[in-house]
Amino acid sequence: MAKGLPKQSEDFPGWYVAVVREADLAEHGLARGSQVIKPYGYTIWENIQRALDDRFKATGHENFMFPVLIPESVIAKEKDHVEGFSHEFWTVTQVGGQELEEKLILRPTSEAAIWNAYANWIQSYRDLPLLYNQWCNVFRYELRTRLFLRTSEFLWQEGHTAHATAEEAWDEAVQMLHVYREVAEDVLAIPVLWGRKSAAERFAGADETLPIEALMRDAKALQCGTSHYLGQNFAKAYDVTFLNKEGEQEHAYGTSWGFSSRMVGGTVMSHGDDDGLRLPPAVAPYQVVVVPIYRSDDERASVREVVAKIRDELAGNGVRVRVDDRDQHRPGFKFAEWELKGVPIRIEIGPKDVDAGQVVVVDRVTREKKALPTSEALSSMVGALESVQKSLFEDALKFREANTHEIESFDKFKEGVEAEGGFWVGAWCGAADCEARIAGETKTSIRVLPLELEDPGAPCMHCGKPGVERATWARAY
Ligand SMILES: [Zn+2]
Repeated sequence: MAKGLPKQSEDFPGWYVAVVREADLAEHGLARGSQVIKPYGYTIWENIQRALDDRFKATGHENFMFPVLIPESVIAKEKDHVEGFSHEFWTVTQVGGQELEEKLILRPTSEAAIWNAYANWIQSYRDLPLLYNQWCNVFRYELRTRLFLRTSEFLWQEGHTAHATAEEAWDEAVQMLHVYREVAEDVLAIPVLWGRKSAAERFAGADETLPIEALMRDAKALQCGTSHYLGQNFAKAYDVTFLNKEGEQEHAYGTSWGFSSRMVGGTVMSHGDDDGLRLPPAVAPYQVVVVPIYRSDDERASVREVVAKIRDELAGNGVRVRVDDRDQHRPGFKFAEWELKGVPIRIEIGPKDVDAGQVVVVDRVTREKKALPTSEALSSMVGALESVQKSLFEDALKFREANTHEIESFDKFKEGVEAEGGFWVGAWCGAADCEARIAGETKTSIRVLPLELEDPGAPCMHCGKPGVERATWARAY
């Protein structure tokens, strides 16, 4: 193990490909651009899913399911939306060898199908709000694929809500932005910036797009989740009207919000080191791995007895624990493998430890290795996992802070981002053509603007016109 990993500082993309393969997270599928998510990677996704779904339920949402196939004429009704997505459409034109009368699109996202149904579901203000979400796969053609980050089919959730007032819909969009921020920071241990996107970076069909953005360990940005305020755009396109309290017909207000399996890749790139993954305990498939060490059959019997007790007690305390009792591998091989797979804490126990009533506890993040009385090791395990979770967050935050720069001049920004990546923050005039020129010259984009407009108190760093926004720029995945 680990022999195949390039150093992050020398070849980050190569490191990413190798770690995804060696840690057995995913592989390419048969059809171009597709991926197979393997059990170890899928379990991370399931843990992310649970953290999100619990919070969706706690904020009053229910899950439902819409079909993957959407008639072309239905998608075509929202013009901005279809223009934004049509180059990524997968289209079904035949069934059973017969040409279809109407083409069917594999959903790239489901606003079209869902708002088409909402037209029938919503008649009066008493039917509102609708607070729904679906867990599903979506299809968007990708020429260049990278496992988890960019694939033609991926997993996500898409929330779709409808409201009687603009204010209520806006509050919902902001609430879900903060749900995403909480899951990124408290569960994935990834510190994020949050706010608005510029008009150029908005979701096709939205009035505002609210992202969370993180910095990966190669100092490139990753958009981690987005919540959209749709205004009445989809209600107008799909004729979703309701009788309001004043007895007048009005179009409903909408939101949609998504968080995807790319965040498995985001977790890898936020925390991994030259030896492999470092998984936050909150999403790690195994939080603790126990490696028994023995030579003779007698040793094996006595070690195994203690190991079984350790396993039962940890599992009883809600810890996800795995005993690695594979006979075909030596302990040293197992240590390296679990390090590569990012298991937060390893417990080693041999015959001498059994005699001394102790175990050896190794922390994946601090690399600290200490012998502890078995009872103490067990009673302190939940706290030790919390401390791994915390130190990963603090590491990532320290990295982001060291790689966030104030823009002193456009030239320094252009040189700096080329040399070292990172987030660059400075005044912008708010004009789309100026944004496009900056983006073109620096190969960056605006990642995030403050949620509430903030006077930057300086002229635009590029054109010199009055600054209206404090924008954060970066090169991004
Ligand atoms: Zn400007």
